[in-house]
Amino acid sequence: MAKPEFWKNSKRYFDLKSYWRNLFGCNVHKLSIDAGFTCPNRDGYVATGGCIYCDGRGSKLRQMGELPSVAAQIRTGKKYYSGKASKFIAYFQTFTNTYAPAVQLQALYDEALGEPDVIGLSIGTRPDCLAPETISLLKKYSENYHIWVELGLQSVHDKTLQFINRGHNFQQFRDAVHALAGSKLNICVHIIIGLPGESDNDVLRTAVILAALPINGIKIHSLLALEGTTLGDMYKNGSIPMISKEKYVALTADVLEVLPPAMVIQRLTADGYRDIFLAPSWAGSKLDVLNSINRELERRDSWQGIYYHRDK
Ligand code: SF4
Repeated sequence: MAKPEFWKNSKRYFDLKSYWRNLFGCNVHKLSIDAGFTCPNRDGYVATGGCIYCDGRGSKLRQMGELPSVAAQIRTGKKYYSGKASKFIAYFQTFTNTYAPAVQLQALYDEALGEPDVIGLSIGTRPDCLAPETISLLKKYSENYHIWVELGLQSVHDKTLQFINRGHNFQQFRDAVHALAGSKLNICVHIIIGLPGESDNDVLRTAVILAALPINGIKIHSLLALEGTTLGDMYKNGSIPMISKEKYVALTADVLEVLPPAMVIQRLTADGYRDIFLAPSWAGSKLDVLNSINRELERRDSWQGIYYHRDK
């Protein structure tokens, strides 16, 4: 399969910036919002302790004290991107952003969409936290706005989900995807490469299975060990090996090759956490990782979707 022309970019994968530029004819940026949500995997509703890699601190803004309103956070973010983008997506990022009754969610989402030049929402959440009323609400928004629902998953393998204490299984993810699909909503999945106990084949299997679902975008990053997390403790006592850069780059290229060419690649590296970052040391240099992935795809003369088969 030749590299798709509709990407209209010079990359070997369909990146989010190009996707939005093609769709809206201008630069679009996500503005991160901490709307004060918590997480059912931390507060005991689903489980306690959270995912083993989660630091549980929330955004930097939350760590500083009382949160500004959603509208105020958007205005501050827009100032930062002034001149770099003309349209914005309000990214409800911190913890589980559907973890409230639909009426409360609607007030927060409306507040964001009421700000000038905000053309849509990206809502980070868990597959087990989408009540039918919430799904109806999101579908209604998608009739007039550009809406993404970002579902944390990390792996399709239940043994891994159990080990990392996700608090849900793959079937719950699949059910959530099917409940959201068939509308104008866009679905993005988050996966992690380098999870404990996963073979190369397990990682590839995750990609192949996700490639066959009605998913529009994906975020990929390597497992990070952070200070103050269960995983961080495991790393420090030597019970968890961290993935090497070479392995991460090769597996990321393998994953990209089997994903559909139209699936938007929203992220290939992890951001932030500088103050509590433990390992792997190479993951601190985002640009170097991205360049290495590009070089690997060039070396293979390969690109996203080259081995994608619709009927898998
Ligand atoms: S679902 Fe997200 S916020 Fe909740 S414990 Fe896991 S990583 Fe943390």
